[in-house]
Amino acid sequence: MATKTFDAVVIGAGPGGYVAAIRLAQLGKKTALVDREELGGVCVNWGCIPSKALIAAANLVDDIRKAGARGILVEPARVDVNKLREFKDAVVQKMVGGVGFLEKGNGVEVIRGTARFVSAQALEVEGAGEKTRLEAPAFIVATGARPIEIPGFPMDGKQVWSAREAVDLPEIPKRLVCIGGGIIGMELGTVYAKLGSDVTFLEALPQVLTGIDPEAVRLVLRSLKERGTKVHVNAKALGYEARGEELLVKAEVEGKPLEIPCDRILVAVGFRPSVEGLGLEPLGVKLTPRGFIEVNPSYRTSAPSIYAIGDIAGPPLLAHKASKEGEIAAEAIAGKKSVRDWVALPSGIFTDPEIAVVGLSEEEARKAGHDPIVGKFSFGALGRAVAIAHGEGFVKVVGDRSTKLLLGATLCGPEASDLVAEAALALEMGAYLEDVALTIHAHPTLPEAFMEACKAALGEAIHALNRAERPRRAGAGAPASA
Ligand code: NAD
Repeated sequence: MATKTFDAVVIGAGPGGYVAAIRLAQLGKKTALVDREELGGVCVNWGCIPSKALIAAANLVDDIRKAGARGILVEPARVDVNKLREFKDAVVQKMVGGVGFLEKGNGVEVIRGTARFVSAQALEVEGAGEKTRLEAPAFIVATGARPIEIPGFPMDGKQVWSAREAVDLPEIPKRLVCIGGGIIGMELGTVYAKLGSDVTFLEALPQVLTGIDPEAVRLVLRSLKERGTKVHVNAKALGYEARGEELLVKAEVEGKPLEIPCDRILVAVGFRPSVEGLGLEPLGVKLTPRGFIEVNPSYRTSAPSIYAIGDIAGPPLLAHKASKEGEIAAEAIAGKKSVRDWVALPSGIFTDPEIAVVGLSEEEARKAGHDPIVGKFSFGALGRAVAIAHGEGFVKVVGDRSTKLLLGATLCGPEASDLVAEAALALEMGAYLEDVALTIHAHPTLPEAFMEACKAALGEAIHALNRAERPRRAGAGAPASA
């Protein structure tokens, strides 16, 4: 068996691992990056990137269908599923190629195969019938997470899909049942609904998108309902039967039995960490009760030579969190005093409308000991949003009543996942509501909604009536309304 020696070895080439490898190389470390699949991990191959290609295409079809209201008359839009899949595959190939280009350009050696620790300083990688031993003083485990299976729904990739098959777009089924109304279920269920499937959701909890502002969730549900999509909450999926070509999903909804005929089933009930087979147990690497790897603020595990980042180091399971953690771990390995010290971790949900969240909600702010003030601005009052026929949704900001420090924002509406970047920057920079309110925003643009929401929290919105309570200021009188 050949032996190779490096300063650091990264296992897993997703957005955590590939970024960590680049950062290590930038810092002068001789680095190897090991993966048994294509570079880019779930994010690039069957998660964030291809799903966004499909979401954008589905939005385009949807916009074309509604274009008559703007005087644009077109034949009914039809979807060529093979062509759309080819487009999506080309997007993925381009991004996978980009990761390879960056690794090579930074001098990272990419090694194909499955890695397993044989000691705290050595790995064996098995790939293409060969074994290679990789020795290093430091390792980063970035093997991510994979879909959870549930009893009664063995995922065969044909009748019962995981996100992986759903993103692959093998077909547009006439009827699709989505088990799980979390982020993946809602994003991909919306895609298929827009592409023409009759979609039914089964969510075990009382609300889909648990943890998200119910006002935003209501808008997503309204838009699904307009497409004839059915959403059952408090719904337990029990199993299914194949009856010829048809599948019959058996569920219990609000305690009552329900049978739903369909053609395909998507199971999207969460992800679990991919920790098995790595040989970590004998090395004393501790896991959390939920099976994630326990890490310190520099992402070092209980085995000093081994770091862990991304999904495997615990929730939230977000690509950009993994990338940030990869940079921190790489810097810590290179001797820098790098630790997890961010203020803002934004997230975007690509439903219709989009939802994005950063910082604290009103309830979280209260729990954290703040007396919160809230400012809200509706896209329906924003010229740009109305002009692009997407006046649905709102921006809601939360601040501290006495200091006026910005604490968080929830955005629901057009381009919310892009707009959240400004709120994240404001939070990271320790901005006050006034800082955003005083910043001139170009008109007519969507970010004006964030500025107006901050002004609204101060009782000073221009394009909305300030009916809400005005924050108390020294010497101020009764709350005013305009
Ligand atoms: P999730 O945890 O977001 O949602 C799973 C949902 O399934 C939950 O609402 C849960 O109550 C429900 N559920 C569980 N068991 C069920 C059952 N037996 N019957 C019916 N419902 C059931 O998980 P996901 O949607 O699979 O996504 C996986 C991970 O990937 C998440 O951590 C998510 O944050 C992440 N992700 C993020 C994005 C994004 O940020 N845009 C996109 C995709 C995935």
